[in-house]
Amino acid sequence: MGHTTGSEFTTVFGRGLIGELPSFVHRPYLVVTMDDLWPKFEHHFDSHLAGVHRVTTIGLDELTAAAQSLPECSSIIGLGGGQAIDVAKFFAWSRRLPLFQVPTAMTTNAPFGHRPLLRSEGKAVAIGWAVPEGVYVDFDVIRAAPPLLNRSGVCDVLCYHTAHFDWKLAHDLGKEERRWPYDERLVGEARLRFDAVFGSLDDIKAVTDDGIRTLMTAHRWGGAAFHNAGWNARHMDGVDHCYLYCLEYVTGKQFIHGQGVGLGLYIGSELQQNEPEKMLGALVRVGVDIRPESMGITWDDAATAMRRLAWYVRYAGLWYTVADTTPVTDELIERVRTRIYDAFGE
Ligand SMILES: [Zn+2]
Repeated sequence: MGHTTGSEFTTVFGRGLIGELPSFVHRPYLVVTMDDLWPKFEHHFDSHLAGVHRVTTIGLDELTAAAQSLPECSSIIGLGGGQAIDVAKFFAWSRRLPLFQVPTAMTTNAPFGHRPLLRSEGKAVAIGWAVPEGVYVDFDVIRAAPPLLNRSGVCDVLCYHTAHFDWKLAHDLGKEERRWPYDERLVGEARLRFDAVFGSLDDIKAVTDDGIRTLMTAHRWGGAAFHNAGWNARHMDGVDHCYLYCLEYVTGKQFIHGQGVGLGLYIGSELQQNEPEKMLGALVRVGVDIRPESMGITWDDAATAMRRLAWYVRYAGLWYTVADTTPVTDELIERVRTRIYDAFGE
């Protein structure tokens, strides 16, 4: 399957990895983490701790100011799921400091991507660049994370399924972006990672060492692939992510990324008539509940986002997908509703 261009971050799997950090990161070090995580990990750090930055915002302006008033330090440790990891990247970039990343859950591929995903004026922006010295994946730390945070990480890989359909669709209709012509080689590379994760759903659900290794290795590829493909994510994101962004817009709420993507990838595969039963079955098997109630919203919210999807993708200027070609009918909405509640219960 062709050779992979570009490189991926140095990644270490093991145990007791956090306790080892104070012995080798540059001193003094700053830990970037979340309020609820710090008490769990504080005891691993020593007198060389310069300070702790608890993430309360991913706003670009606030973080730009915060980067200027960090305590004197010689390295940055990112410790968390997505936001702490991204803020650690931004500080490392702003202050030109060595970075060490410790993901505490398998939620997203953020630990393995070059650019931090932040917010500016209500929009997602990816400003900055950081290559960590290492990404430390501790089996025991990951296993202790809330199950849904870990399991929902599969959706950022399973969505390659809908993304590939959308990219091909855009290509066939002459609607693909000029900078991202359809590339069978990239699709093939992504498919290898999809297949690995699809074949390990039981291990990922149980958060075994093998399951952690498989999903995090897929994330490692996916995180680097945006850069490695020339800042192209067409082989990784499609209508699945469009739906999540639309749902966020319609409800004004934030969701666990993978869970929202999971709902989007199932709805998208129905719109595409692209093995929807297989995708819903995968979500059931890995234990990612996509009922709106499990995301803190109602079925009507989910249905409203479906109805507004075609309008939203043009409003937001998202790339061309099945959302542009296939109307969301009442019949489709009813089929999705019936199948989701049949699969997960009322
Ligand atoms: Zn994603």
